[in-house]
Amino acid sequence: MTAYDKLMDHARATRALEQVAGRLGWDQETMMPPGAANQRAEESAAMEAVLHARRTDPQVGEWLEAAAPEGDVAAAQLRLIRRAYDRATKVPADLATEIARVTSRSHSQWAAARADVDWPAFVPVLEEVLRLKREEAAALSGGGDLYDALLDDFEPGATGESLAEMFGALRPRLVALREKILDRPAPEPLRGRFDEAAQLRLTHTVAEAFGYDFQRGRIDLAVHPFSSGSGHDVRITTRTDPKDPFGALYSTIHEVGHGAYELGIDDGYLLTPLGHGVSMGVHESQSRIYENQIGRSRAFCGWLYGRMVETFGEMNLGGPDAFYAAVNRVESGFIRTEADEVHYNLHILLRFDLERLLMAGDLAVADLEDAWDARFEADFGRKVEKASDGVLQDVHWAVGLFGYFPTYTLGNVYAGCLMKALREAVPDLDAALAEGDTSPATDWLRENLQQHGGLRGPRETIAKACGFEPSEGPLLDYIEAKFGALYGL
Ligand code: ZN
Repeated sequence: MTAYDKLMDHARATRALEQVAGRLGWDQETMMPPGAANQRAEESAAMEAVLHARRTDPQVGEWLEAAAPEGDVAAAQLRLIRRAYDRATKVPADLATEIARVTSRSHSQWAAARADVDWPAFVPVLEEVLRLKREEAAALSGGGDLYDALLDDFEPGATGESLAEMFGALRPRLVALREKILDRPAPEPLRGRFDEAAQLRLTHTVAEAFGYDFQRGRIDLAVHPFSSGSGHDVRITTRTDPKDPFGALYSTIHEVGHGAYELGIDDGYLLTPLGHGVSMGVHESQSRIYENQIGRSRAFCGWLYGRMVETFGEMNLGGPDAFYAAVNRVESGFIRTEADEVHYNLHILLRFDLERLLMAGDLAVADLEDAWDARFEADFGRKVEKASDGVLQDVHWAVGLFGYFPTYTLGNVYAGCLMKALREAVPDLDAALAEGDTSPATDWLRENLQQHGGLRGPRETIAKACGFEPSEGPLLDYIEAKFGALYGL
């Protein structure tokens, strides 16, 4: 066996174990009896210890030195193995253990602080998390930028500087648009009560319309919807609310997008480093284009309206146009996860700017709430009344996920680029969507993006699929045209 073959065998077994660990996590959120929580924590920690030992195995370093890959695919596999090995070995083991210990505790401290609306109680917790993450970033960056070192975990190759430039171009146009929209009369929202079992049946219909493969996936209920797994076992979750069927429908479409990416990857990459989504931003581009550009389009909403009437009977909305307007209703809310397409990225830009300041040491955790509230008022025109609607609303910072937020907006930006290219490649797309047939879109995405997995870097993956360099322009054009028409601007 060559050194490359040995590396690939090792990597395959590691990937398989990671899938097992991921399924433990899936089970914890969906099926696990509540009394098993402590035992599960031990089971997961034991798996993590096995994985950590494999990721930092000195044999991997020796094989990497000896390996001579042949061809593009082998070179890409090797690049990803080297990257993972370098990152795993740069962080001292005691620091990694300390971060795992502190962030598993800080998760429940955050949940308690949010429930009690008690920001001061959470300040020392977040200070400790930030201190450890800055230490980790210093170990990873080798004297370089701390924020970039953490961002690289989620979006390889991106930098805070390059994202700040892109996001700086988004912010003024989005703020101007939201101001114009909120001056206009708001469309009627969907009202009523919607049977939850019927909602779940409809989520299956919608997932099938998007080509979700129930032979290699399943849908279960979870408090916070997520997708999990890769290869031939890619599961998604959803949730229902009797007053808001859009929550179940659009979170399902979103997670189906994540699932489609994993399920669409070339079978030859199964359980290898190339066999999963290349970055969080590219992953999010798949969930967002399914959810927003396709799922919230006028054509698809026309089909969905028919399924809604079949499932729930007549609604308070007079027809497909009113339904489309209700689906895309713009509201200046406090909560990121409930935001419409106009406001969503403004939520992310706020978090991105603040976490860069925190990481650079230019903003103290003690001053974070004031900074948050001031920025929120500037961009959303409303005062934050309580921390649970503001600085305490998201779990990310509490568990040390600094550098994660920007991948949501990057995903939207990439989805904007992909939709532009898709519309050029499939001019009659809307005719198919109006029949509930998304296959021209999903086929194009699989062919041009999904099947390649991690073969190319994230930005290169998008550029190759689109035939042009990604930028924020197509997303802004799409949002301004869509909402301009909806609100008669
Ligand atoms: Zn997502």
